[in-house]
Amino acid sequence: QAKALGRGRCEVFSPAMRLRAVALVRLEADLRAALERDEFHIHYQPIVSLKDSRIVGMEALLRWQHPHQGLIAPSDFIPLAEDTGLILPMGEWVLRTACGHLKTWLDNGVPPLRLAVNISPVQLKDPGFTDMVTTVIKESGIKPDNLELEITETVLMEQTSSIVEVLLKLKAFGIHISLDDFGTGYSSLNYLQNLPIDTLKIDRSFIRKLFFNQEQPKIIETILTLGNNLGMEVIAEGIETTEQLKKLQAMKCRQGQGFFFSRPMDESAAASLLSSFPGAKTKVAPERLL
Ligand code: C2E
Ligand code: MG
Ligand code: MG
Ligand code: MG
Repeated sequence: QAKALGRGRCEVFSPAMRLRAVALVRLEADLRAALERDEFHIHYQPIVSLKDSRIVGMEALLRWQHPHQGLIAPSDFIPLAEDTGLILPMGEWVLRTACGHLKTWLDNGVPPLRLAVNISPVQLKDPGFTDMVTTVIKESGIKPDNLELEITETVLMEQTSSIVEVLLKLKAFGIHISLDDFGTGYSSLNYLQNLPIDTLKIDRSFIRKLFFNQEQPKIIETILTLGNNLGMEVIAEGIETTEQLKKLQAMKCRQGQGFFFSRPMDESAAASLLSSFPGAKTKVAPERLL
């Protein structure tokens, strides 16, 4: 009994904790079943050229339509999927499904664009990862050049030689690699130089704080310069207002993403957005052109 241990000690397992543990076990069982029950969906958010609002890419974002709990956000189930290893079949499903969608869009005449898919550190460490990716690409009939894998800084902190090897192999195959949520992790400039990173995605916290103080724009400018000097693309995440867009344009940031342009949308909405500008380059919305 925890009480018997004396004052000042935490109970080992409170009723609240027990409830949480039970809920977690249930969620895990649901997560296991979700793939077979077709409860996962992918939403897409445009990545936009800030100069002219042209859509240059689409980021695939996983959604879970739980039978009782409704729509569950990735942050609420991906950590559990990572802990249980379920992220491996789940991540493969995301890649396969998203590549299939891209193939359909391109076959329907949509101008070339890049598909961005988020990859968990657990996936990158899986020995079968490279083969899985190349197989999926070949089977879905898209070009490796059309695919960008988004990884986070945390995975690079460890700098294990196997991860470097994996990234180099993917790069050699023609796939692009981007560094997601850039600036939030432990940024060693060393790995930026040594790894085949094509794109930096400035974390949306920097964009949100853009006008909070005079230092914020300088930080963004520094990331832009860093990216330019290393020959990388830079994408600003989380653009929500005209003011943010104008400031980023003035700073010569070339690409962005955020609710200002579009919230993530389901596949059919994405397909109709992409095909709504026949013959011309797809734009996110003419009124967004500033
Ligand atoms: P992320 O890759 O950084 O994706 C961007 C997140 O920011 C998305 O949240 C998106 O809906 C949100 N967002 C986009 N524009 C704005 C904006 O203007 N304002 C605000 N406040 N938010 C914006 P979401 O879809 O909830 O995804 C959260 C995270 O979950 C993603 O962050 C990514 O790390 C992870 N994730 C999503 N799908 C997958 C997946 O298929 N596999 C893996 N491993 N992780 C995924
Ligand atoms: Mg991402
Ligand atoms: Mg991000
Ligand atoms: Mg994120």
